[in-house]
Amino acid sequence: MCDYVINIASGCLHGCTFCYVPSTPAIRTRTSQFQEQGIDNPQLDWGKYLFIRENIASQLKQILDKKKKWINTLSGKGVVLLCSGTDPYQNNQTAKITREIVSILLEHNKRIRILTRSPLWINDLDILCHKNVTVGMSLPILDDELSRQIEPFAPLPSSRYKALASGHREGCRLYVAVAPTPPQMKLEDFKRHLEKVMALQPEVIFWEAINARGANAQRMRLAGLDFADSISCKKQWAEYSIAN
Ligand code: SF4
Repeated sequence: MCDYVINIASGCLHGCTFCYVPSTPAIRTRTSQFQEQGIDNPQLDWGKYLFIRENIASQLKQILDKKKKWINTLSGKGVVLLCSGTDPYQNNQTAKITREIVSILLEHNKRIRILTRSPLWINDLDILCHKNVTVGMSLPILDDELSRQIEPFAPLPSSRYKALASGHREGCRLYVAVAPTPPQMKLEDFKRHLEKVMALQPEVIFWEAINARGANAQRMRLAGLDFADSISCKKQWAEYSIAN
C-alpha cells in the first residue's frame, strides 16, 4: 500500500472492537505514558484515548526539506500512507493536522494515500482531488445497526458511503477497504455490497477478514458479538475466511 507511513496520533477514538492496533508495539511499548495518563488497560480501553502528535506537520516539513533519497518500491510506489494505526480524520483536530501534512507532502510532490472511516475528509476536497492523492474509506458493511456493535464510535457506514459518493462526483481518486467482513455476511450479502461499492468506481477494492490478535476477541465478546469465539478458533477462522 505504501513505502512510508505517517501516524499522526497514538490511539483512535473510533474504538473498533476488532482493531488489532492496540496489540502492536506502537501501543504496547507506551506503558509508562499510559500509566501517567491513568489508563490502566490500553487494550480493553481502546477507543478511549488519543495522543495527538501536535508538532508533526512542522517536523515533517523540516525532514522533507532536507531529505534527498526517497524509497520507491514496485509495490509501495513511493506512497505515503496516512494512517496505519489511527484515523487521520477522526475529529476536527486530527483533520486539521492531516490537512497540513497533505499540503506539505504535495508541496514536495509526494504521493499520498488516505485511509479513514470518517467523512470529514470531504471538507478537504480542494486539496484531496489531486493526481497524487487517493482517498480510501473502510466500508466493510452498509448496515448502520450492526456497525454500532462492531465499530461503535466510528461514523455510520451510510455517512461514509455518502462521503465516497461526493468524492466520486468531484472526481477524487478513490479506493475502498471492505475490511473486515463480519462472519454473518454471506456470499449474497457480499455480492450486493460489492455492487454498491463498484457504483463508486474506486480504483481498488481490498478485502480483509477479522483477525484475532491481542485482546480484540475479548473486546468483541464484551460488545456482545457472538462470532468472537469462532474468530478465535483457527479452524473456524479459516472456514469463515475462505467462505468470504
Ligand atoms: S478506525 Fe482503524 S485504527 Fe481506528 S479503531 Fe477502527 S480499525 Fe482501529
